[in-house]
Amino acid sequence: MPKKPKYIVLLGPPASGKGTQATRLREELDLPHVASGDLFREHLKNESELGAKAKEYIDRGALVPDDITIAMVMDRLSRPDCEKGAILDGFPRTIAQAEALDAALVEQGHKISVTPSIVVPDEVLVERVGGRRVCRMCGKTYHVRFNLPQEPDVCDRDGGELYQRDDDKPETVRERLKVYWKQTSPLIEYYRGQGVLVEVNGDQPIDAVTEELRTVLAG
Ligand code: ADP
Ligand code: AMP
Repeated sequence: MPKKPKYIVLLGPPASGKGTQATRLREELDLPHVASGDLFREHLKNESELGAKAKEYIDRGALVPDDITIAMVMDRLSRPDCEKGAILDGFPRTIAQAEALDAALVEQGHKISVTPSIVVPDEVLVERVGGRRVCRMCGKTYHVRFNLPQEPDVCDRDGGELYQRDDDKPETVRERLKVYWKQTSPLIEYYRGQGVLVEVNGDQPIDAVTEELRTVLAG
């Protein structure tokens, strides 16, 4: 019998460490990492029509409309590598997105296994965002103080140049945090109501957060 697919939704505000942790855990869990922000950035890089539409929202720290986002993520989840499940990062971000995901999973006889909510105080998030650097080639994330590459400004994995995301500039970050508290944080109660929410302390070193997540995911 094939293994039951496992869908893990990583919840947490911008820069709480969702991408960092998903990248570390995807191999040991043998699950693809599906990050809606990365999917949008791919579209931006490829100058697709979807990318142009999304850019208007991303540049001002707003959420891309639900219909566009849901269609993009569902398309990704329908690919063969997601048959075993996925680590979702940055999606869902609204109740409508969460309901669409639930409905799609139910239709296939599946459901979300666990929703770790990575908790980090806002002032820590601001510091993390300011120092975040991303590889232009593969999207791997570093931090100028907390997660340094071996060589300055160069990705360890593929030698790509590290850059600062435009939406990581302070004005946009403030807006993104506001959007998180207004539109995304209600998902905490939504998933608590489903009995899948587990809080994880994200305000500790990267390795310690990974360890806490491992425990949660094993349970
Ligand atoms: P998210 O995917 O939630 O937006 P990231 O994983 O990109 O967040 O992390 C945001 C920034 O903070 C990155 O620069 C990353 O290297 C750094 N970071 C992630 N987790 C920690 C941590 N536990 N302690 C310190 N810095 C961290
Ligand atoms: P992230 O890489 O997760 O920080 O996302 C970067 C930006 O992409 C966000 O600020 C939004 O503009 C957009 N975005 C990513 N995921 C979603 C989503 N699930 N719903 C709406 N917009 C999203």
